[in-house]
Amino acid sequence: MVRITKTLGWAKRWVWLLTLVPVAALIGCECWLVQGLLVPRRVAGGSMAPTFVGDHFQGECHVCGHRWAYEGQQFERIICPDCASRVDRLESEPIRGDRLLFSRWRLFFQSPRRWEIVGLRRPDRVGELAVKRIVGLPGESVSIRRGDIHVDGRLVHKDLAEALDVAIPVSHGDRSVDRWRFEEKTGWRCQDHRFCWTSMVENSSLESVMTDIHGEQPAWLAYYHQENLAAGNQPVTDNYGYNQDVSRRLHQVRDLFATFRFSAPATGWIGLQCHDGDRWQRLLWNPVDGTIRSHGPGSGKYLDAEVEPVDPRAGVDVVFGTWDRQLLLGVNGRALYRQELDDPKDGPWTPVSNPLGILPVRYKEMEIQRLRVWRDIYYLPLARADGRYEVKLADDEYFVLGDNAPISVDSRQWSQGGHRVTVHNLIGRARRLSSDHSRK
Ligand SMILES: [Zn+2]
Repeated sequence: MVRITKTLGWAKRWVWLLTLVPVAALIGCECWLVQGLLVPRRVAGGSMAPTFVGDHFQGECHVCGHRWAYEGQQFERIICPDCASRVDRLESEPIRGDRLLFSRWRLFFQSPRRWEIVGLRRPDRVGELAVKRIVGLPGESVSIRRGDIHVDGRLVHKDLAEALDVAIPVSHGDRSVDRWRFEEKTGWRCQDHRFCWTSMVENSSLESVMTDIHGEQPAWLAYYHQENLAAGNQPVTDNYGYNQDVSRRLHQVRDLFATFRFSAPATGWIGLQCHDGDRWQRLLWNPVDGTIRSHGPGSGKYLDAEVEPVDPRAGVDVVFGTWDRQLLLGVNGRALYRQELDDPKDGPWTPVSNPLGILPVRYKEMEIQRLRVWRDIYYLPLARADGRYEVKLADDEYFVLGDNAPISVDSRQWSQGGHRVTVHNLIGRARRLSSDHSRK
């Protein structure tokens, strides 16, 4: 009898132990490693849109089929960010904001890095959390000029992975294929959202492509941008499909890239061009040979570079454009070529409404699909006459900004009120646990 009672006692203890240990581990995890597992952390506002969104509505365009998240319900008609059509607002319940996890673990072993998204305690309001992107590190001098972040007087270059992470969608080629245009009888045809090139003749010499100042070669497949169907073609701006009820002056954006899948059965050259706000940046790429020809710094000279050869027969994913004053070419997620661009003019830009183009050179066949256009965030300084803004960070201070620059409340305002974001404010690296649909 005594033995049975003893055994039962031990069994009870084991049951308690087996229940308590995982619960304690979970609580420890929540407190020390990852916040948001037990107690859901949801995004409340739109300051990080479209990367993370707060409570929002879902728009659906009856013209192009694009679906997107937006905030604001005072308008009966909203504008599709993909094809610029004015569409009826759907009667729907608001959709809850993204659920996030904040990983403290990362902060134990690694200092926060530039362009990382972090959860933090707001320095200006006790008990409130915020999610922002780190753009300035301790000790640095941060300024915002013409939409770009400058640190210690120099423009910060994002690498390819950072650029892709930050990128704001401008156009999904699959849906708004009519924004990508070509001249009839040049060899292009559009079929099932794919652009196919067939040519029986050599269409261009390399020399003529490089000297084509205005991009007038007839065979360019070119992107024409529209913000509003009634206004016609115009340069890309820092418009957000998310901000349907924000009325403000839009800024022209010059940091753009196209992503697409490229396949070709034989060897040849592909011409790529992007207008950087001042002039055309153009390069010729022979994927199989691994050769790139571009305009070097200054005019009249060509720069030839050797890059890793790529076989496009099975299809490769290409990223091309100008970003933070660099010409970037990436293949299958890796940077293949990068060239820094000079920035000679301080005056207004002269962007064009057809800023991106693709040209087959000496290819008999080629196929381009999944064409999409992206832009960089155009960071806005707080209103000042000279449009400049500079903050010297203390040795323990970070400068954080929201991706949705026009509506975000962040270090721009906090620093003016003397509210500093230090390592003690940071909770952890933020990532999305759930969302109702994919935005990127
Ligand atoms: Zn649309």
